[in-house]
Amino acid sequence: MAHLTVKTYPSEVLNKIAAPVKTFDDGLKTLAADMFETMYSESGIGLAAPQVDRSIRLVVLDLAAGTEEQGSHQLVLVNPEIIERRGDVVWEEGCLSLPGILGKVKRSRYVKVSATDLDGNPFEVEGEELLAVALQHETDHLDGILFVQRVSPLQRKFLIREYTRKQNEERYGSPDGPTF
Ligand code: ZN
Repeated sequence: MAHLTVKTYPSEVLNKIAAPVKTFDDGLKTLAADMFETMYSESGIGLAAPQVDRSIRLVVLDLAAGTEEQGSHQLVLVNPEIIERRGDVVWEEGCLSLPGILGKVKRSRYVKVSATDLDGNPFEVEGEELLAVALQHETDHLDGILFVQRVSPLQRKFLIREYTRKQNEERYGSPDGPTF
């Protein structure tokens, strides 16, 4: 298994609508395995293919990531589509493509998703609370939407500013960017 590079905001691939998966080959299975590996090493619970620079409709999830049960609840969704949603929930979300910031996002409390597995067999998955939020967050990635686009414009401005300061600090050792 290989560790993949996670693309961070403002990478263009994160804004693109990902293409449906049409070929269910070994390459797809390898990509899914590599995405799990990458997700675990970055301490995420979900990862969408566009985040590793592959603009296709593939998502991996493991809500038990980082616990003793890591690996036993793996969920792979190919071409997922939300077919039912109910209720509202506000959840504090983070994203491996926006490291260092968290934002409160209003989502549906319950969703039902139809998808296929890595062999193209259709199935449905239902989720509430955290699973529902994760399913919505990841399917958003396939439509080029980041969680900061699901908050108010004012909150978005604040979050992006905070993110930029953190990125600058990491890159240049100063929140204001490079110094000359
Ligand atoms: Zn994300």
